[in-house]
Amino acid sequence: MHEFSLARATKDTIVNKYNGLHKFIIYIGQIQQIDIELFKEALFEEIRELNIDVVFEEIPAKMKCNVCQYVFIYDKNSLNSEEQEDIHFLPETIYIYLRCPNCKSNDFTIVEGRGIFVKPL
Ligand SMILES: [Zn+2]
Repeated sequence: MHEFSLARATKDTIVNKYNGLHKFIIYIGQIQQIDIELFKEALFEEIRELNIDVVFEEIPAKMKCNVCQYVFIYDKNSLNSEEQEDIHFLPETIYIYLRCPNCKSNDFTIVEGRGIFVKPL
C-alpha cells in the first residue's frame, strides 16, 4: 500500500507547491522499493479530476565509493534477476551484491536514485 501513499504525497506536492501548473515530470529513483506500475495507476487515479499531465522518468542510481571516491552507476544488467529483485524489495541488499568497480569495496554511498521527485515541465 506504500504506492498509494506515495501517489497521494505526489499529488499533494503538485497541488500545493505547483498550483496552476499542468504538466509535470515525475522522476522515480531506480533504487526504489515500490511497484512502479502500481504507483502510476494510483497517481493517475489521484489526479483524474485535475487537469494535469504527467510523464515518468527513471533516474539511474549513482554510487560513490567511500574508500577510493570512485563514482559509478548501478547497472542492473550486471546482476541476475534474483539479485535485482532483492535490491528492489530490500534496497540495502545492494551492499551485498554490488562492489565498487575500481577497488572492489562494498563501502559506498548511494548519492542519487532514491525517492521520487516532481518537476514542472
Ligand atoms: Zn572504490
